[in-house]
Amino acid sequence: MNTIILSTKENSVDEIANRAAYILRSGGLVVFPTETVYGVGADAFNINAVNKIFDIKKRAKDNPLIFHIFSLDMLNTIAEITPLAKKLIKHFWPGPLTLILKSKIERKFTFGLDTIAVRMPDNLIALKIVEKLRKPVVAPSANISGKPSSTDFEHVLQDFHGKVDCIVNGGGTVYGIESTVIDISENKAILLRPGALSIEDIENLDIKVALADKWELKKRSPGTRYRHYAPDKPLILFENQSDLKSMLDLYNNAKIGYMGTYKLMFDLDKKIIFRNLEEYGRMLFSTLRYFDSVDVDIIIAQLPENKGIGRAIRDRLIRASGIDR
Ligand code: AMP
Ligand code: MG
Repeated sequence: MNTIILSTKENSVDEIANRAAYILRSGGLVVFPTETVYGVGADAFNINAVNKIFDIKKRAKDNPLIFHIFSLDMLNTIAEITPLAKKLIKHFWPGPLTLILKSKIERKFTFGLDTIAVRMPDNLIALKIVEKLRKPVVAPSANISGKPSSTDFEHVLQDFHGKVDCIVNGGGTVYGIESTVIDISENKAILLRPGALSIEDIENLDIKVALADKWELKKRSPGTRYRHYAPDKPLILFENQSDLKSMLDLYNNAKIGYMGTYKLMFDLDKKIIFRNLEEYGRMLFSTLRYFDSVDVDIIIAQLPENKGIGRAIRDRLIRASGIDR
């Protein structure tokens, strides 16, 4: 398949959005940047196009997709808007928060569920594409399922060149980590996936966010059943400096790629040191992809504390390493 490449360096946002919306309207797939990661989008009401996403990503059929919307009017056509939803929307949309709400549309469009996952992305290109299509766009991360998400144009090319109708190059994404998913369909807030918006920010509005236990999570959010984000090379995690020392002793014959915020006093084959957790989040997936492409045998990564953006980074690293299975 010939993949059309559009770029913010050469095309205006209007031109990109018009062409992308035209392709989506014809049942095609368009990869576009959001503020979290790149998404591979289809017209949410075109079942054929939506099925193509599952095919090219090799995504499990029981893992439902997030509807990306442009306005509250559009939201109102697909989901029930409760007072709790209104409060969260007022503070955090557009932005990296996905809400699970009661659905108003036919189950064939919601993967057989009576709830629907919705978000309003904080990215001009993404918003304009949805606005011009005048229909919601389902858009999971633009990577082969199980692999690290795409946070830059080059990653999308690696996974999807020749497999989608169009790729929009909008440079690196702002957060580099997917949206936070909160289920509020039963009028209380339950965290289904930590993400770029921290729980502390939500709790500052006096909304208690419950953490679902592992089994409830697998029931409520099918996406959490599968291994995700994994590099090809073994990924080994450590919590603190003394853990790290024992790891390095254990693997002293291997070529090590290190990632974390601790500055290392000794030399390693490859090390990527982040200035803070925001940078760790933004670079997490690109660093995993980088280590897969260079001469290291294993990746050793620091698990940050379970708070703020650290919660989402921990979640992604634990899933990527496969130790939660
Ligand atoms: P992604 O694969 O990054 O697009 O993330 C989509 C996430 O939203 C997955 O974890 C899905 O399981 C979850 N999701 C989508 N729709 C629903 C829904 N109706 N109820 C619960 N979780 C959902
Ligand atoms: Mg994904």
